[in-house]
Amino acid sequence: SRQFTRPINDLANQFNTLLSAIAGAERVFEIIDEEEEAVDEQDAGSLEDIKGEVIFDKVSFAYEKSGETIKNVNFKVRAGENVALVGPTGAGKTTLVNLLARFYDPNRGKILIDGRDIQQVKRSSLRSHMGFVLQDSYLFQGTVRENIRYGRLDATDNEVEEAARLANAHSFIQKLPNEYEFMLKQDGSGISQGQKQLISIARALLADPSILILDEATSSIDTITEVKIQEALQRLMEGRTSFVIAHRLNTIQQADKILVLEEGRIIESGSHDSLLKEKGFYYGLYNSQLNQGNQTG
Ligand code: ADP
Repeated sequence: SRQFTRPINDLANQFNTLLSAIAGAERVFEIIDEEEEAVDEQDAGSLEDIKGEVIFDKVSFAYEKSGETIKNVNFKVRAGENVALVGPTGAGKTTLVNLLARFYDPNRGKILIDGRDIQQVKRSSLRSHMGFVLQDSYLFQGTVRENIRYGRLDATDNEVEEAARLANAHSFIQKLPNEYEFMLKQDGSGISQGQKQLISIARALLADPSILILDEATSSIDTITEVKIQEALQRLMEGRTSFVIAHRLNTIQQADKILVLEEGRIIESGSHDSLLKEKGFYYGLYNSQLNQGNQTG
């Protein structure tokens, strides 16, 4: 479903185009905001400090000219919980996080953050509380330092390096020519896919958002880097509400809550252990993935 999973999966492309067009970058999603047709409601307010409780209350959604993609979805996530979204390709996992970030609004029902209906919140304010680590990490042409600092533009050099350390990125950066001053190219060449992810994790750590949206990489990454990424992601998710579009069994098992989607509905939810006991859809998925080797939808 890659070609349809706009806009979350399309951010990388938009990002590079827009960034080269706009000098003096604001935060990524404020820029992309301006490209959207959607206008904030007249009385839209700001979200101040939030804890990160998320509620989907009878949410249904249809893309234009198609049947309902999200069907009466209900769930509550406590602040700081890690949620894994699981289910076959096309089940609606990406759409769900698109709704949370207000790239689209529900046709019915409400999404609440800390009790606030997000439709009454300015998109830029909403997204300033969100961090995104996506499959295609949207790095731009500039130094490694600039790319990390993009998470928080007033961060000091020390803060940038501290974030890189926490993200397990510092050691590979130190081995680059010019280290933090190493120029990343717009086409992304020069460092590996896994290293790009570590940089985008460092950026997210620096931004320090309350809510995280993660789309795990499916492309093959060497085992050592993979371990570094998983460790850095655990650090990043600690204490933050996170939604992981999960492709790997290990991340799913550690989640506080697993939401299993099928054709736009949540058909099962619970912890890994409780879902295995139910011997339902997740149980079957888990066993088939185990046999096929560690990848899910
Ligand atoms: P998943 O992330 O679980 O693979 P998606 O949320 O990407 O699922 O897709 C759910 C359904 O919505 C699929 O049938 C997909 O084809 C459709 N879809 C996704 N994005 C769009 C779009 N922009 N326009 C129309 N249909 C879409």
